[in-house]
Amino acid sequence: MTTMDSSTGSGASTGAGSALAPGSYNPEVVARLDAIRKTYYMGAISVEVLHGISLNFHRGDYITIMGPSGCGKSTLMNILGCLDQPTSGTYYLGEEDTSAMNDDDLSAVRGARLGFIFQSYNLIQQLDVLENIEMPLFYQGYSETESREIATGLAERVGLGERLDHKPFELSGGQQQRVAIARALAVDPLIILADEPTGNLDSKSGAEILNLFDELHAQGKTLIMVTHSDELAERSRRQIRLRDGLVESDERS
Ligand code: ADP
Ligand code: MG
Repeated sequence: MTTMDSSTGSGASTGAGSALAPGSYNPEVVARLDAIRKTYYMGAISVEVLHGISLNFHRGDYITIMGPSGCGKSTLMNILGCLDQPTSGTYYLGEEDTSAMNDDDLSAVRGARLGFIFQSYNLIQQLDVLENIEMPLFYQGYSETESREIATGLAERVGLGERLDHKPFELSGGQQQRVAIARALAVDPLIILADEPTGNLDSKSGAEILNLFDELHAQGKTLIMVTHSDELAERSRRQIRLRDGLVESDERS
């Protein structure tokens, strides 16, 4: 499963010729965007905001997507997150072509294969730390005992082992974002997607979150993040810049 040779079908022709440093990640393609276009229709007016984006994302990579406001970052993230579909082009998540999926399929894929981190944490205010982390496991049908065990482990991993029964309002922004990160890790997703994950944090909490991302990267997690933070981009391993709905640059560090 983890070697290039044993990749099944969809990976066969991808990644060839790319100048990627060996050893820093597993070159297995976990997501593939092929000629993605997105048009929004508003009554009689239509606006194409993505004009043909083709990108491969590799297992274990740490990717940031940057670009000026309005260039299409969130539109692209919504497609990657199976929250929206392209107008044309194909999006493979793992082995699965998501293009033909209906809303139910997409939501099943989202729950099983993706972890989301948002700028504003999006925790459920009535639930405590442990229960927030358990949410995705509940939807995947894990037993209570199993969920509790996984969520406790994850809370400890993000440094919240002492705050399992705290509600979000009893936590700092940085702590809330750590709960959100633990929740995103719960189902051991193929990709963790984040939209401006340090955007609401002071510099100290932001720095702690960046350290946590470094740890996740070192542990082999696949991270794709939209950000305006130069610091976050510098710590990522691949920096993609969008401009006017197209990839302007795509670099590794
Ligand atoms: P970014 O995240 O890079 O700031 P977006 O992907 O949010 O950019 O938006 C790209 C363009 O698409 C913008 O011009 C925005 O106004 C437009 N847009 C985004 N979402 C919609 C929508 N649901 N309907 C119509 N236009 C939209
Ligand atoms: Mg945006």
